[in-house]
Amino acid sequence: MSLVIIGGGISGLFMAHMALKADPERDITVIEKADHVGGLLYGHHYPEDYYFDKGTHLFRECGIADIDSFMTHVPPESALYYLPDHGYSGCVFNGKLQENSHYPLVQNAQVRQETVQYLKNASSDHDMSNLSTYCRSVFGPSYSDHISIPMAEAIFQKKACELSFNALSIIGQDRVLSFDQKEWRQASNATSLVAFPDQRKMPDTLKNPRRRFYSKEKGTFSVVDGIARRLQERGVKIWMNTNIMTINDHRIDVRHGGNNHTLEFDTLAFATSTFATANLLNIDIQTSRFDRPLEHHVIHMVLSHAPISELAFFYNLDRPDHFFRVTNYSRILNAADDTRISIEVLRNDQTPIDDKDVRTYLADLCTLGFIHPSTSIVFHRTERLASGFPMMTNKNRQALSSLAISIEKVAGDHYFLGRGEKTAPFLQSEVLASIHKHFTHYI
Ligand SMILES: Cc1cc2nc3c(=O)[nH]c(=O)nc-3n(C[C@H](O)[C@H](O)[C@H](O)COP(=O)(O)OP(=O)(O)OC[C@H]3O[C@@H](n4cnc5c(N)ncnc54)[C@H](O)[C@@H]3O)c2cc1C
Repeated sequence: MSLVIIGGGISGLFMAHMALKADPERDITVIEKADHVGGLLYGHHYPEDYYFDKGTHLFRECGIADIDSFMTHVPPESALYYLPDHGYSGCVFNGKLQENSHYPLVQNAQVRQETVQYLKNASSDHDMSNLSTYCRSVFGPSYSDHISIPMAEAIFQKKACELSFNALSIIGQDRVLSFDQKEWRQASNATSLVAFPDQRKMPDTLKNPRRRFYSKEKGTFSVVDGIARRLQERGVKIWMNTNIMTINDHRIDVRHGGNNHTLEFDTLAFATSTFATANLLNIDIQTSRFDRPLEHHVIHMVLSHAPISELAFFYNLDRPDHFFRVTNYSRILNAADDTRISIEVLRNDQTPIDDKDVRTYLADLCTLGFIHPSTSIVFHRTERLASGFPMMTNKNRQALSSLAISIEKVAGDHYFLGRGEKTAPFLQSEVLASIHKHFTHYI
């Protein structure tokens, strides 16, 4: 039995792993159009010998043994670094860099009181019509109207009634910060919605047992490259730099290494995400009306000194159009001499990042106390992520879901997996869990 998987991102590689697990003799070929595997999970290697991830990609165990063992298949496994306490995360809220939690610490006593009161009696039935109704049913009107709705509207630059209910989880804001131990206990019937007041003092019993990890060598690149090598050692063929010419019932014609090849298959799987799969199947995307993604730029920076903050990363909840998230490599890898940081910027227009922006961001990081005032830039480069940052509107959710249904109809017996498939998984753990769940149906 032969299986051809189109797309060498994490979905395509995981699919190969699962297929091999089911049948170690299976003939499997992964076709990737780029010159590397990993898709979005990849990194930039600059000639100056600096490595940076494409975006921020700390990995976290997900509790499904098949997935966790697959993700840690990095030879040698000792190259993986497990972050103590998962790495501290923070946020900028009300002009301050908050180091205790990445959920906003609300100072307004009335909002706090009303929120705790609401959570004590909250129902578990949530109105998922849009972000506004969802927030109000989950966190209550006070917290929603003062905190979460304006924050989501500022980040996505859309009205809450246009946004999808799950937009908050994409920006890591799906909990309310408890303010003291007493309040924590009062709201304890909604513990999954309440975050502990200070991550450094969190009792072990409340800590997430699933560890966060990263590679000591070349971050995301080493993890994905290690997975691909392990698959190749087990007989999976991975063809990079490969262009698909035609797809027929049981054969696919490709251009690879300057030659044309025909691959025969029993099963074909698309793991290229929605738009690329629609293109391969000649489905017209223009008729589905999508809201444009936000422009996503990552500024990769080497500083003269590592940040003085203990945070591994933080979100900017005050002015996300300014910068959205900052990553501190010295705290991800616990290496005082690692002076790399990356700054992710979201914009709703196509203005490029210029040197003036970079200097402004550095000055802001200094004012916030994240870096020492004497810190200067040794190296910087900005990369634009072609796919952008997903616009989490209801319109997009519906359009993606109907496109996924059209793909399934046209694909017939072939399989469409990974990001954008019909159940709309987006985060890496959701994508892999969805493939895992459906695996038995597919193979
Ligand atoms: C801006 C952004 C930020 C994110 N942040 C996070 C985060 O913080 N945490 C998290 O868990 N997840 C995050 N994600 C989601 C995560 O990146 C995805 O869940 C995951 O990478 C999906 O993997 P995939 O293999 O399905 O898709 P992709 O990584 O897109 O891989 C698809 C592959 O298919 C290949 N391909 C496409 N067309 C063809 C073709 N015609 N022929 C051959 N190959 C083709 C591509 O080159 C690519 O290698 C983020 C995503 C984005 C866009």
